[in-house]
Amino acid sequence: MSQTWDCRDTLAQQARDAMTTKHTPGPWSVSHDSVVYSGASLVADAAGGNQRTPETAKANANLIAAAPELLAAAIEARNHLRTTHAWLDSVYHPNCMQCSILTHLSNAINKAEGE
Ligand SMILES: [Zn+2]
Repeated sequence: MSQTWDCRDTLAQQARDAMTTKHTPGPWSVSHDSVVYSGASLVADAAGGNQRTPETAKANANLIAAAPELLAAAIEARNHLRTTHAWLDSVYHPNCMQCSILTHLSNAINKAEGE
Protein backbone atom coordinates (compact mmCIF):
# COMPACT_ATOMS: atom_id res chain seq x y z
CA MET A 1 0.00 0.00 0.00
CA SER A 2 1.49 3.33 -0.96
CA GLN A 3 0.77 6.65 0.69
CA THR A 4 1.58 10.07 -0.68
CA TRP A 5 2.60 13.03 1.43
CA ASP A 6 0.40 16.09 1.35
CA CYS A 7 1.35 19.23 3.29
CA ARG A 8 -2.35 19.82 3.95
CA ASP A 9 -2.36 16.64 6.06
CA THR A 10 0.41 18.03 8.27
CA LEU A 11 -1.31 21.40 8.60
CA ALA A 12 -4.59 19.73 9.52
CA GLN A 13 -2.81 17.61 12.15
CA GLN A 14 -1.10 20.70 13.56
CA ALA A 15 -4.47 22.41 13.86
CA ARG A 16 -5.87 19.36 15.70
CA ASP A 17 -2.80 19.30 17.98
CA ALA A 18 -3.22 23.00 18.80
CA MET A 19 -6.87 22.43 19.72
CA THR A 20 -5.97 19.65 22.17
CA THR A 21 -3.09 21.48 23.86
CA LYS A 22 -3.51 21.65 27.62
CA HIS A 23 -0.55 23.86 28.46
CA THR A 24 -0.56 27.65 28.43
CA PRO A 25 -0.26 28.76 24.82
CA GLY A 26 3.10 30.11 23.67
CA PRO A 27 5.12 32.06 23.04
CA TRP A 28 6.68 32.17 26.48
CA SER A 29 9.37 34.64 27.51
CA VAL A 30 11.88 35.08 30.33
CA SER A 31 11.83 38.11 32.60
CA HIS A 32 13.87 38.99 35.68
CA ASP A 33 16.45 36.38 34.57
CA SER A 34 14.52 33.31 35.72
CA VAL A 35 10.77 33.93 35.57
CA VAL A 36 8.83 32.53 32.60
CA TYR A 37 5.73 34.32 31.36
CA SER A 38 3.06 33.84 28.74
CA GLY A 39 2.14 37.44 28.07
CA ALA A 40 1.45 38.81 31.56
CA SER A 41 0.72 35.38 33.07
CA LEU A 42 3.32 33.60 35.17
CA VAL A 43 4.20 30.15 33.85
CA ALA A 44 7.16 29.22 36.07
CA ASP A 45 9.85 30.61 38.33
CA ALA A 46 13.08 28.69 37.77
CA ALA A 47 14.87 30.31 40.71
CA GLY A 48 13.44 27.88 43.25
CA GLY A 49 15.77 25.57 45.12
CA ASN A 50 18.71 26.69 47.19
CA GLN A 51 21.43 24.87 45.28
CA ARG A 52 20.98 26.57 41.90
CA THR A 53 23.28 29.28 40.72
CA PRO A 54 21.73 32.33 39.01
CA GLU A 55 23.28 31.11 35.75
CA THR A 56 21.60 27.70 36.10
CA ALA A 57 18.26 29.31 36.98
CA LYS A 58 18.49 31.53 33.88
CA ALA A 59 19.43 28.55 31.68
CA ASN A 60 16.51 26.57 33.11
CA ALA A 61 14.14 29.49 32.50
CA ASN A 62 15.34 29.80 28.90
CA LEU A 63 14.76 26.08 28.34
CA ILE A 64 11.28 26.24 29.87
CA ALA A 65 10.41 29.32 27.78
CA ALA A 66 11.39 27.47 24.59
CA ALA A 67 9.18 24.49 25.45
CA PRO A 68 6.08 25.45 23.41
CA GLU A 69 8.15 25.99 20.26
CA LEU A 70 10.21 22.84 20.89
CA LEU A 71 7.05 20.79 21.40
CA ALA A 72 5.45 22.18 18.25
CA ALA A 73 8.61 21.45 16.25
CA ALA A 74 8.84 17.93 17.67
CA ILE A 75 5.19 17.24 16.81
CA GLU A 76 5.73 18.57 13.30
CA ALA A 77 8.84 16.43 12.79
CA ARG A 78 7.13 13.33 14.24
CA ASN A 79 4.11 13.81 12.04
CA HIS A 80 6.34 14.26 9.02
CA LEU A 81 8.27 11.07 9.78
CA ARG A 82 5.04 9.18 10.44
CA THR A 83 3.72 10.29 7.09
CA THR A 84 6.84 9.75 5.06
CA HIS A 85 8.66 6.91 6.74
CA ALA A 86 7.90 4.39 9.45
CA TRP A 87 4.14 4.43 9.34
CA LEU A 88 4.11 3.70 5.64
CA ASP A 89 4.61 0.02 6.41
CA SER A 90 3.99 0.03 10.20
CA VAL A 91 7.36 -1.59 10.81
CA TYR A 92 10.19 -0.47 13.06
CA HIS A 93 13.36 -0.93 11.02
CA PRO A 94 16.33 -2.15 13.10
CA ASN A 95 19.33 0.20 12.95
CA CYS A 96 17.30 2.82 11.06
CA MET A 97 18.15 6.43 11.98
CA GLN A 98 14.70 7.70 11.00
CA CYS A 99 12.98 5.10 13.19
CA SER A 100 15.33 6.02 16.05
CA ILE A 101 14.54 9.72 15.66
CA LEU A 102 10.84 8.96 15.48
CA THR A 103 11.05 6.96 18.71
CA HIS A 104 12.94 9.74 20.50
CA LEU A 105 10.51 12.39 19.26
CA SER A 106 7.49 10.31 20.30
CA ASN A 107 8.96 9.65 23.77
CA ALA A 108 9.73 13.36 24.30
CA ILE A 109 6.28 14.42 23.10
CA ASN A 110 4.60 11.87 25.37
CA LYS A 111 6.65 13.15 28.31
CA ALA A 112 5.74 16.76 27.52
CA GLU A 113 2.09 15.82 27.26
CA GLY A 114 2.15 13.82 30.51
CA GLU A 115 1.48 10.48 28.89
ZN1 LIG B 1 12.99 3.11 9.61
